[in-house]
Amino acid sequence: MRKTGKDYHARCTCCGEFTAYIDGLCSRCKKRLYINGSPEFPKPTLSAEIAIARQRINEICDWRKAEGAFDEFMLSFASPSKSDSLRRLCWLHYVKLKSADREPVMRFFDALVQSYAVTIYEDNGGKFDNKRKQYQFCLGRSVVCPWNRRRQVGQRFYYNRRERANLQRRSKIMLQAFNKIFIGAGISRYLSNINNIIRSKK
Ligand SMILES: [Zn+2]
Repeated sequence: MRKTGKDYHARCTCCGEFTAYIDGLCSRCKKRLYINGSPEFPKPTLSAEIAIARQRINEICDWRKAEGAFDEFMLSFASPSKSDSLRRLCWLHYVKLKSADREPVMRFFDALVQSYAVTIYEDNGGKFDNKRKQYQFCLGRSVVCPWNRRRQVGQRFYYNRRERANLQRRSKIMLQAFNKIFIGAGISRYLSNINNIIRSKK
C-alpha cells in the first residue's frame, strides 16, 4: 500500500469507519476532535463547576489586582490580523466583540472562572482524552472562548459568525492558547494560588 497521498482504504482509528483521511480519522470523528478536543469524549458542559468557581473566586481572592497585568498582556498579544489565528481569536473575544453590558465577551474574570471550572471538573473525577491532550485543550479553550454560550455577543453587533465559529473549532489553536495564555499569561499561577488558599483553610 502506498504511504503517500490519501489512503481511501484505511479505517478511522477512532470509530472504525472507512475513511478518506490520511491522518486516520473519518470526517465525523475529525469534526468531534475540532469541537471537543477529542473524537471520543465530548467536552464537559461545566455548568455546575462554573457556578462553584465563580463563587469561590469572589469569596477568597481579590482578582481585580491581577486583572490589570492580564489586560496589558492581552492588549499587546491580541491582533486583528488574520495571519495568526490565536491572536485574531483573542482580539475578537477580548477587544472587538462586546456583550449586552458593553463589556468584551471575554475578560480576565471569565478566563479565571472558566479555567478554574475545568480544574474542578478534573478534580472531581471528570474524564479527559489523554491521548489527544483534551485537558490542555479545555484549559486553553476556557481562556479564549466563552464556555457554553455564556456572555453572548450583544444584539445588533455585526461580525463574521462563520469566521468566529471556525476559529473556535480548531483544536490546535486551543492547545496554543494553553501554552501562551493559560501558562504564559500567568492564569495557571493564579489558579494554584487560589488552590493553596483553599487548602490552607481546610
Ligand atoms: Zn471515525
